[in-house]
Amino acid sequence: MIHSLMEKLGVAKAQYQGGDLIVTTPIDGSEIGRLTTTSTSDVDTAIANAEKAFSAWKRVPAPRRGELVRLFGEQLRQHKQSLGELVTWECGKILQEGLGEVQEMIDICDLAVGQSRQLFGLTIASERPGHHMRESWHPLGPIGLITAFNFPVAPWAWNSALALVCGNSLLWKPSEKTPLTALACQALLERAIEQFGDEAPAHLSQVIIGERAAGEQLVNDSRVALISATGSTRMGREVGPKVAARFGRSILELGGNNAMILAPSADLDMATRAILFSAVGTAGQRCTTLRRLVVHESIKDDVLTRLKKAYSAVTIGNPLEGSLVGPLIDHQAFDAMQSVLAKAREQGANVFGGERVEIPGSDQGYYVTPAIVEMAEQNALVKHETFAPILYVLTYKELDEAIATNNDVPQGLSSCIFTTDVREAETFVSAVGSDCGIANINIGPSGAEIGGAFGGEKETGGGRESGSDVWKSYMRRQTNTVNYSRELPLAQGIKFD
Ligand code: NAD
Repeated sequence: MIHSLMEKLGVAKAQYQGGDLIVTTPIDGSEIGRLTTTSTSDVDTAIANAEKAFSAWKRVPAPRRGELVRLFGEQLRQHKQSLGELVTWECGKILQEGLGEVQEMIDICDLAVGQSRQLFGLTIASERPGHHMRESWHPLGPIGLITAFNFPVAPWAWNSALALVCGNSLLWKPSEKTPLTALACQALLERAIEQFGDEAPAHLSQVIIGERAAGEQLVNDSRVALISATGSTRMGREVGPKVAARFGRSILELGGNNAMILAPSADLDMATRAILFSAVGTAGQRCTTLRRLVVHESIKDDVLTRLKKAYSAVTIGNPLEGSLVGPLIDHQAFDAMQSVLAKAREQGANVFGGERVEIPGSDQGYYVTPAIVEMAEQNALVKHETFAPILYVLTYKELDEAIATNNDVPQGLSSCIFTTDVREAETFVSAVGSDCGIANINIGPSGAEIGGAFGGEKETGGGRESGSDVWKSYMRRQTNTVNYSRELPLAQGIKFD
């Protein structure tokens, strides 16, 4: 199956056979590829080649660069099914979500194509007669992309579609757990480059295969102008200071610990569906997964009854065969989940679900029933992001208390409130409300659209990707003052003669 998918996507067998990096599928733990780790000297050469590619690409007019991204978007449309299936094979999310991830790539390509004609700056009034000021945006340089296993392709596309129209070259170090999808994306981009023609330089986009050391090499190299890194807070804590020490730029998209406040006035049917999708979807392995439900004490029992019923009806199994919950990525993820549930029990929490589910023929697949954990308080366990389907349930009496609970975690990615009270809703998204990068009303915390800026505060890293004015992160800003007069007045009225 993998071979036929890879063939359709244009990846030769030699690229993923016979190497030292073994890739397995979480569906049943079987091996699906062996890739060759890029050597230190080859990474060095790749960076040098990315510099050359940048030098040529930045000369191509931005709307022409947009045309390349348009062609790439067409490739993605044609290969949506195959790439979506490969995403499912490699990271275990259900096919609907694999296809959704590819759709996000298509969407960002569309956005970037339009953006390629809109890389505009301001015109600014000058205090001097016969002068004007303006702001220009210029390409930045080679962009280093480091990505996580759970969204193996979409975050790369969010960055690369914009980075390409902004005139930059790309170096991608995908997760060591999901490098096959990276080879497939690269192959599709290469097809688009072939259609585009000679204006696109060689090495415009390169993939670097390896574990964290390969990422570190990009991080430490001052030729890489921007590091956009998606992954754990642990990773960001290492990457951020290193890039800053060489005065490079970084976009950090790190862990989340996302909450929903469920108010007494909420539409509970809608809220239950939203909780289910955002807490158990992708087997709890989204950065925006709902991890904390802060429910008003007056409706807690009703909500728990509804949730337990909904959780019991969820189908768990092979993500290619129509289940709603697929496997965890590997046995380490399973062990981490079990250890956290054991600690919660020791602390007196009420734990519903969380057991391993045996799927025939998938001995090495780690499937679990999603867990609901009733906690007496938001303690250290709850404040930690465990990358598994664990939903902590906490209660509140007053909205202020619920907002304080929402904010009282180290992470600041996504959040939401379910309420039909406009005062509560507006308070939640006001300056005294949620402190997260994403705050939603009557929608779960996961499943963002690409039109808005995506990212979070505090230990989530502060980065933003995707829509809004995020394209500016991939360009350098230049302020121009132009004198079209015959005089040379100085600013601030200074006389120097
Ligand atoms: P991870 O941190 O283990 O690895 C992510 C990537 O970073 C991998 O490519 C890895 O090789 C690389 N890496 C690790 N240490 C590095 C270092 N010191 N220097 C350079 N590169 C290094 O994360 P993971 O387990 O693949 O992904 C899950 C985590 O990612 C979760 O915490 C999740 O919340 C987070 N995530 C965040 C977002 C977001 O947009 N905020 C999106 C997806 C995932």
